[in-house]
Amino acid sequence: MEITPEQERQLHALVEAFLEENANINLSAFRTPESCWTGNVLDSLSALDLEEVQRLPEGAQCLDIGTGGGFPLLPLAICLPQHSFTGLDATQKKIDAIGRIASKLGLQNVSLVCGRTEELGRQEDLRDRFDCVTARGLAPLNVLLEYAAPFTRPKGHIVAWKSMTIDQELTESLLARAELSSHLVHRHAYELPADYGKRQLLVFEKTAKTPKKYPREIGVPKKQPLI
Ligand code: SAH
Repeated sequence: MEITPEQERQLHALVEAFLEENANINLSAFRTPESCWTGNVLDSLSALDLEEVQRLPEGAQCLDIGTGGGFPLLPLAICLPQHSFTGLDATQKKIDAIGRIASKLGLQNVSLVCGRTEELGRQEDLRDRFDCVTARGLAPLNVLLEYAAPFTRPKGHIVAWKSMTIDQELTESLLARAELSSHLVHRHAYELPADYGKRQLLVFEKTAKTPKKYPREIGVPKKQPLI
């Protein structure tokens, strides 16, 4: 997917605004412009290579859960201005920081919500709604799917950012995938420059509405993962 010179300028402005916030609030371990560019921005943009993302209809609704300091939320919102993006996180001060960054950059297609996925995933207006739900650095797959699936519309996709060594996590997500009708449809390996190494995106397609019992109460998905 093409990135325009204006989008590239905005991505660099994002790094600058993010590092300013990161100096006050701990949002990310990447503290230099170079590491933030590669480790956060380029890593987030790996999703632009997915056919499932490229095929999203104009005006698609995307949700980034556990967005933290705004990754992959903000780079994707910059490069896909035709879609709308919602960032969700349990920590208000992170949501506030992303809000300041988004308004500094003049991003029109970003909205934010603070809360736990276990609660918000039961909210009528957010449930079974999003075309694409993303999550990076959030939780093991079985927990991640219980957090993400309730928000995803049937036939919509869940994209998880993962390292290359996740065989055990994948095996341990078999029950979660079945219970939440979230089927692994695509694995996309990519390599970041310098010594950031190889990583992968896992794409799940949700094939049916999420059963009413999910997500379970706050803390339960993590303490008693579907296994
Ligand atoms: N996606 C970002 C941040 C990862 S850290 C990045 O890759 O840089 C994980 C974030 O998820 C934290 O900010 C934490 O507050 C949030 N989080 C963890 N569990 C959550 C839950 N159940 N509901 C909402 N946010 C959650």
